Amino acid sequence: MADFVGAIDQGTTSTRFMIFDRAGTEISRGQIEHRQILPAAGRVEHDAREIGENARKTIDVALANAGLVASDLAAIGIANQRETVVLWDRATGEPVAPAIVWQDTRTAADLRELDADLLRERTGLPPATYFSATKARWLLDHTPGLRARAERGEVLFGTIDSWLIWNLTGGELHVTDVTNASRTQLMNLSTLAWDPVLLALFDIPEAMLPTIRSSAEVYGTALGTVPLAAAIGDQQAALFGQTCFEPGDAKCTYGTGNFVLLNTGTTPVRSTHGLLTTVAYKFKSQLPVYALEGSVAASGSAIQWLRDQLGILESASDSETLAASVDDSAGVCFVPAFSGLFAPYWRPDARAAIVGLSRFHTSAHITRAALEAICYQTRDVVVAMAQDSGTELDCLQVDGGVTANELCMQLQADILGVPVSRPAVAETTALGAAYAAGLAVGFWRSEDELRANRREDRRWTPTWAPDRRTEGISRWHKAVDRTLDWV
Ligand code: ADP
Repeated sequence: MADFVGAIDQGTTSTRFMIFDRAGTEISRGQIEHRQILPAAGRVEHDAREIGENARKTIDVALANAGLVASDLAAIGIANQRETVVLWDRATGEPVAPAIVWQDTRTAADLRELDADLLRERTGLPPATYFSATKARWLLDHTPGLRARAERGEVLFGTIDSWLIWNLTGGELHVTDVTNASRTQLMNLSTLAWDPVLLALFDIPEAMLPTIRSSAEVYGTALGTVPLAAAIGDQQAALFGQTCFEPGDAKCTYGTGNFVLLNTGTTPVRSTHGLLTTVAYKFKSQLPVYALEGSVAASGSAIQWLRDQLGILESASDSETLAASVDDSAGVCFVPAFSGLFAPYWRPDARAAIVGLSRFHTSAHITRAALEAICYQTRDVVVAMAQDSGTELDCLQVDGGVTANELCMQLQADILGVPVSRPAVAETTALGAAYAAGLAVGFWRSEDELRANRREDRRWTPTWAPDRRTEGISRWHKAVDRTLDWV
């Protein structure tokens, strides 16, 4: 049997292909960035053709780097940026419009007419420009002739997973997985099928939709003979790559923003505290596993802002040395609500603030406050998760760019009051897609085998006394209040 598994990690800014061995160790990778097309304020587009080509190229690069050929791969899995919409021509395989990216807010005006209770009940998601449905409707309404063609099944809809599977199988398969489908706002979270009420609400012809499959099963073959055996949204893939297989397991990915996902088991937990309910993964014909998700809009981007806009840091990693030069933030709070607050607040009217300044304070205090903000925001989401799910976290698995900052991770443990664990393989998204594909073809036999692969690189345990934590949290919430109702 082939000794390796490959994973495409198709992200918002780049496409990667990574090859892992049986121990879950990275053997090789290829990576290519793609263009961010910004035609107007609030609009973000990608060229789906470019993304498809990049996926093929990165596979070639990673195989060549490792001196491997396609037949050395036991399976390929896909992890992908979620919600982004691609429409293409069934006959030619060519995109018929630019892909509308998850960040795009052109459909904001459409949200007013939507019934929030109905959407939450059927999809686990609130009305937001974030999800795919309003984007697909926009393309159908603004491209001449497209709706009629879509109704005849000549134009197909897909999220990026569908588009890549279509391309890698030479146009044979029009499928998606449940995790990606759960972000379209067109799938019913309980039946895991396209919901006629939602299709009517968003005016989406059923003929254009892919078949919904599980996240880990052999869909078809790619590169001639390699089983294409997993598709899973990127945040869900990171949860899988962190081996968060038990209800109560949670991970936080720290990048531009924070994404916290909590495994809640086989029953969806409806949030009443500002979180999303989503499918975590579904393995073949087994019951689906659900998750609660909390997204924080700005975390690592606060560090970028200190570097690029204020110029008080040379590089993001300097934030650690500068913040460590003071014992604490000396009462300063930095709430990086640059574009409003996401989970659990959902306040688009909030704007960022640095409060509590006196003449004594320096760039070191502000930088330390920025690191603390990353951690307080995660804590707010984790608390909402405990309220919704009734389970307390006993350890947070972490990954993403910011976790290189050891001080920040110590602060995270201090502020959460539970340990924080960083795995040896930082690329948990690609690893999760590889694990799902490898399980589907029997390359790995069980979740236990994957858990045994997990190597902890570092663990931080809380050092703050409870009083200090309580005081910090209450100051943070006072600062959050100051940012609300600003625009
Ligand atoms: P994304 O996938 O969202 O682009 P990454 O996982 O690549 O994010 O992380 C990049 C983010 O992490 C940037 O916002 C950057 O400011 C932040 N970052 C990177 N290194 C550090 C560090 N050592 N300390 C604090 N923040 C960091």
